[in-house]
Amino acid sequence: MVDGMFDQEFIDDNMNSFVNHLILNLQVLLWGVVIFELVMLFCIFFDQAVFLRRDTIFQVRTARKKVALTFDDGPSEFWTPRILDELKKAGIKATFFMVGFHVKKFPQIAQRVLKEGHIIGNHGYAHSVLLYYTDEELEEEIKYTELVIQEITGYKTKYFRPPKAWLGLGKKKIIKSMGYEIILWSLNSKDWVPFPHGYMVRYIVRNIKDGDILLFHDSGGVFKSRGGDRTQSVLMIPPLVKELRKKGFEFVTIEELLSDSKIS
Ligand SMILES: [Zn+2]
Repeated sequence: MVDGMFDQEFIDDNMNSFVNHLILNLQVLLWGVVIFELVMLFCIFFDQAVFLRRDTIFQVRTARKKVALTFDDGPSEFWTPRILDELKKAGIKATFFMVGFHVKKFPQIAQRVLKEGHIIGNHGYAHSVLLYYTDEELEEEIKYTELVIQEITGYKTKYFRPPKAWLGLGKKKIIKSMGYEIILWSLNSKDWVPFPHGYMVRYIVRNIKDGDILLFHDSGGVFKSRGGDRTQSVLMIPPLVKELRKKGFEFVTIEELLSDSKIS
């Protein structure tokens, strides 16, 4: 009888300890989910790149009403041709910041981008965040991407966009000494979320200013450099062009935007 009571207490203690552990684990899990959601909401509705604009070009004070559309992370065999078709129909030129690895994978698409009058920018070889690279690794990454793009398209890149915009001031100095301009953006479409194209168009039309550089993607998922769904980026081109033309804007490449700079 006494032994039986002891066993019961032992079982009860173990049960309590198990329940306590379970509650603690659930609390940790819940906090993890809440923190993740808050970080995601911050990323969706705020652009961290505004903190990284020093020593970069993110907007150009132009003499005329001009804006530049930029597409990152491509080329993609599926989305880039669709975006190119829409740009051709609209009769506008854009700038494509390409990932070296994707250029190697889809050389004909990179060639088509150039053949249709668009500009190619350097977006690194593997879309790695360059913040923790050594100076030598950084130079190697940019130079190798430049070589890959040049071998495949014959075009030598002169504009660099750091993946996720993350780059320290010392690294920016090195990139400039390599003959590059570092290009960020002033208006982020957040097409990676992805917002519906009508919402993106309304947001851009409401906030657009002369000399803005607009960020879109023709490849890349939320966490990976490939695999995103760019349907909304394709669909937004015709209405965006129509609405901005109504406001008197012209669409140009980064090169043309810079050549129209009031400062230079
Ligand atoms: Zn990117």
